[in-house]
Amino acid sequence: MALIVQKFGGTSVADPEKIKSVARRVMENARAGNQMVVVLSAMAGETNRFVELAHQMQKQPDPREFDMLLSTGEQVTIALFAMAVKAAGMEAVSLLGDQVKIKTDSRHTKARIKEIDTSLIKKHHQDNKIVVVAGFQGVSEDNQITTLGRGGSDTTAVALAAALQADVCEIYTDVEGVYTTDPNVCNKARKIDKISYDEMLELASLGAKVLDIRSVSFAKRYNVPLHVRSTFTDTEGTWVIEEDKQMESLPVSGVTYNKNEARITISKVPDTPGTASKIFTPIADAGIVVDVIIQNTRSSDLTDMTFTVPLTDYDQAMEIVAKVADDIKAESYSGDKDIAKVSIVGVGMRNHSGIATTMFRVLAEEGINISMISTSEIKVSCVIEEKYTELAVRSLHDAFKLDKENPASPE
Ligand code: ADP
Ligand code: ASP
Ligand code: MG
Repeated sequence: MALIVQKFGGTSVADPEKIKSVARRVMENARAGNQMVVVLSAMAGETNRFVELAHQMQKQPDPREFDMLLSTGEQVTIALFAMAVKAAGMEAVSLLGDQVKIKTDSRHTKARIKEIDTSLIKKHHQDNKIVVVAGFQGVSEDNQITTLGRGGSDTTAVALAAALQADVCEIYTDVEGVYTTDPNVCNKARKIDKISYDEMLELASLGAKVLDIRSVSFAKRYNVPLHVRSTFTDTEGTWVIEEDKQMESLPVSGVTYNKNEARITISKVPDTPGTASKIFTPIADAGIVVDVIIQNTRSSDLTDMTFTVPLTDYDQAMEIVAKVADDIKAESYSGDKDIAKVSIVGVGMRNHSGIATTMFRVLAEEGINISMISTSEIKVSCVIEEKYTELAVRSLHDAFKLDKENPASPE
């Protein structure tokens, strides 16, 4: 007997028939003698619909009420799922985040899980019930409903798997696993059989939305074996596991893109100690995560500061910059939402040279201008104009021969 956590994303539970079909799959596992915890997302499109509704009420929706609204989509699917199981003659119980006691901090819309009480789930397992938990939500110390950020149901699933010491956490989605790039953008994308936690962390943080980044952090920290696979086939998917020797032989294992960032430039700032701190402290205090930062010296006493922020935080970041610009005596500031970040990722980059230069050359040959670059040990990212995203992804995928299982060195 195994304890299995299975998470099904929005497209997997998009309508009543799909929910019934997911329930059949889970029941098969339960009949085989396994203890099942199922985590569900809202039906596809529902969370987006709530976001739009909220914006019809308030330009910047009140965070507490926003979470109250956004968390409702998952309540619908878990209840329907439990009904489908009961209709088939088995026992199931649906639980909201606050009923389980998935405790989070109080940062509405991007709360972090701090602790999970597993006692109620264990009690229901003793009664032979399939336990179905609402993804994406929790409860703060002061008893408020919180949500974990878009895509957060993956994190609910992995955090539950860690807390319950599950044998495996299966993430069911609309593609067959983790691919060398988004299969919906590049038809040559290839499914990866196994990938290290570290590479997956980079891919997820750089835009491969197939897994929420915090779910991968949990999996790495608590050593949860993660299996990403398709809801609609029985094919083996991708295992996200510890790094092994074979993984290091590939310089690049994936290409990602992220269109959900915006760039802000503060121009002609007096180049004095403390300027960066004055700009970035209030931004950090607002819970906004700054990504790529570039400082350009214009002359001996003037500098430009350019950085990127998540698109969802852009308006708030611009409001903060407007206040700070005066204080630091900047001449002007501007923003650009039409940017994208394209990245290549691979643990093998540590011991292969020339990978970044190949990326720059490929983009140049396509006439794509790079406005910002950032690197780490296992990734290179370039900020480009958004309209070139798909072209850049496909060209890089071709150049690094990612459609081949064992690519030779890049052309
Ligand atoms: P779910 O609703 O099941 O959580 P998501 O839409 O969040 O599904 O994630 C699955 C989607 O992630 C795929 O349909 C695909 O378009 C996208 N995606 C982006 N990059 C990758 C990648 N490298 N591998 C697989 N899917 C990817
Ligand atoms: N329903 C939420 C969203 O659309 C959470 C999730 O699906 O993971 O972001
Ligand atoms: Mg998702």
